[in-house]
Amino acid sequence: MNIYVLLKRTFDTEEKISISNGKIEDEGAEFIINPYDEYAVEEAINLRDEHGGEVTVVTVGEEESEKQLRTALAMGADKAVLINTEEDLEDGDQFTTVKILEAFFKDKEVDIILGGNVAIDEASGQVGPRLAERLSIPYVTTITDINIDGKTVSIERDVEGDVEKVETSLPLLVTCQQGLNEPRYPSLPGIMKAKKKPLEELELDDLDLDENDVEAKTKTIEIYLPPEKEAGKVLEGEIDDQVKELVSLLKNDSKVL
Ligand SMILES: Cc1cc2nc3c(=O)[nH]c(=O)nc-3n(C[C@H](O)[C@H](O)[C@H](O)COP(=O)(O)OP(=O)(O)OC[C@H]3O[C@@H](n4cnc5c(N)ncnc54)[C@H](O)[C@@H]3O)c2cc1C
Repeated sequence: MNIYVLLKRTFDTEEKISISNGKIEDEGAEFIINPYDEYAVEEAINLRDEHGGEVTVVTVGEEESEKQLRTALAMGADKAVLINTEEDLEDGDQFTTVKILEAFFKDKEVDIILGGNVAIDEASGQVGPRLAERLSIPYVTTITDINIDGKTVSIERDVEGDVEKVETSLPLLVTCQQGLNEPRYPSLPGIMKAKKKPLEELELDDLDLDENDVEAKTKTIEIYLPPEKEAGKVLEGEIDDQVKELVSLLKNDSKVL
């Protein structure tokens, strides 16, 4: 089987976000594989082990994304592709990413593409479904179980806590949800092997694209942090007095009564 994983490099979930000059400050920040994409890598490896074939992990990003691709290789993926836009593009949106991925997949024989349900930074959840549309293949989002029998694929998906069972066929794109599996940690031999596994680097030119073809369709007007929460107020004294004070605060300060 030709199995592909869409992998995005994202901020570490532990990072404190700061903004400077209208942009999220990434200087010195720690980056990781988008957590939902770890489920995708794990499931891709399991599918390969069960059905044969190979797993290729693809990222649209910058030079530094190589680190996350090497981690995926250390987990057990066979090949990685970095579509490096660092030189060509300053900005991009979901259109940009999907247009680039569409060009990459144009000449590929694909059985299944696995992506994350959502990227934890920009969180649009658009890349997977939009790519499937462009490739004219079916897609199923937020999957928590998958079984492939020949060309038939049986899937369970999370629907806000309920389970929906879906049957579809290959070629297919799925986006992975928490609960699908437990992503493995790369082993030491895995890390050593990953250094020698193929990591192909492509630029827009290699995909017959130029900046104009992938120009973003949306523009971010402003990015800002939520207002800092004020400290809570602790009422003291007799219960009757506290109730009176609470009602007065709700009426006069918060104006919700
Ligand atoms: C040239 C360029 C410059 C950009 N500049 C910025 C920037 O300055 N600041 C910023 O915050 N974002 C930037 N982006 C990222 C972009 O704005 C979106 O984050 C991106 O299109 C994905 O949307 P999303 O994060 O909402 O992903 P979602 O649609 O929520 O992601 C869902 C899944 O799609 C897949 N996926 C998403 N993105 C990628 C990817 N890049 N490669 C492979 N698979 C992917 C993953 O499987 C992921 O789990 C840039 C993108 C490009 C191409």
